[in-house]
Amino acid sequence: MSAVRMSVLLALLSAAAQAQAGVPDVGRQTIAANDGWASMPTAALPGGTTGGSAADTAHVYTVSDRNALVAALAFPDATPKIIRIDGVIDANVDETGQPLTCENYARPDPQTGTPYSLDAFLAAYDPATWGRTNPSGPLERARAASAAAQQARVRIRVPANTTIVGVTRNAGLRGAWLDIRPSSTSGNQPMNVIVRNLTFADTFDCFPQWSPNDGATGNWNSLYDAVSVRNATHVWIDHNNFLDAATADDTLPTYFGRLYQVHDGLVDVTNESDYVTVSWNLMANHDKAMLIGSSDSASADRGKLRVSLHHNLFHDLGQRVPRVRYGQVHVYNNQYSLTTDGAARYGYSWGVGIESQIHAENNHFLVPAAVTPDLFLDRFNGTSLYVAGTLRNGFVRAHAVDPVAAFNAANGEALVNAATWTPTLYNGIDPTWTVPLKVILRAGTFK
Ligand code: CA
Ligand code: CA
Repeated sequence: MSAVRMSVLLALLSAAAQAQAGVPDVGRQTIAANDGWASMPTAALPGGTTGGSAADTAHVYTVSDRNALVAALAFPDATPKIIRIDGVIDANVDETGQPLTCENYARPDPQTGTPYSLDAFLAAYDPATWGRTNPSGPLERARAASAAAQQARVRIRVPANTTIVGVTRNAGLRGAWLDIRPSSTSGNQPMNVIVRNLTFADTFDCFPQWSPNDGATGNWNSLYDAVSVRNATHVWIDHNNFLDAATADDTLPTYFGRLYQVHDGLVDVTNESDYVTVSWNLMANHDKAMLIGSSDSASADRGKLRVSLHHNLFHDLGQRVPRVRYGQVHVYNNQYSLTTDGAARYGYSWGVGIESQIHAENNHFLVPAAVTPDLFLDRFNGTSLYVAGTLRNGFVRAHAVDPVAAFNAANGEALVNAATWTPTLYNGIDPTWTVPLKVILRAGTFK
């Protein structure tokens, strides 16, 4: 997205926010009954996701910098707590709160002392001379050591029974990786986390990894998601903004013929996670939006990764909106929009991965003419999905499209459009023609 259009978008958001009378304190709220998979009642959480709503007064914190945020979270202390975020918290700061640049994180190879520099890294692993094997040796070790130094600052771990909410209109995290995961990295646990009214901006990796065999021409892959959900059940991500501005893809260079991608996902749900609702968020100006299931070989995810996505505004996202493996994922009443610039970078929206069970109902697409319905999905070892009620660029029967039939016809594929499960956790499905206005007015922070 161009800087001009991003500033227009932000101005619209800001105007919409200022039109609201006051900032409600939603810290004590819990998810409504039947509001997607995160409302699933279980023995541990009979009311579904409650976050830190039961916190005593000693465990309600208002924080405005990274140190105070990390101290208040007190991972892995599972005492119910409410974290109120006042203003913008930058994760890329040192212990005294001073900003850290990518240069500040550079570390030498621990074995040889070879210093890290991007120029030296690019010279060492250029496919023209290094070939197409994975980088190894002093500069790759220096890159990894540098990445570890950044991760120690930007990774912010969230313990169980926590609600994190913005309490000022600009409240949010810049450059942070909010990591919702228990101490254990096998199976899953009821983490019971609520994240609302926060703007997540510019989560970026200073040290992307070069993967020469990712795709036909290699790729730069980055590590940090704005929010990641791993080994965790009962997570509700609601009314947030997720976007890149200062580090947007159109500001990034190209090396080895590929975009030097410094971003990973916006909200990735992996590693046996379950019972997640992602609702009423704005996600904008980003390539990889939501990965649900990280690997075909992660068969422990089978029967898990149940996620609901509803009433989100997905604006100029490149791919993975979402990309699904294994999970039963209910995708309804979302607004997908692309500008001409966004369309130039568009891959697909629904990624049909191994044993995935996407159930997509009444979504609306507002896209340039070149973005035909066959482009709305792509197949990655999946065989079926259910799609109904999709409208493209309009509100009446003439705008109804069948993306699965269009995809099959355009690609000589045989994806089956059939429901493999029946969603029960939802509070009504809106008619598609109402989705654009409702979502544009009400998705994002403080709506
Ligand atoms: Ca990720
Ligand atoms: Ca395609």
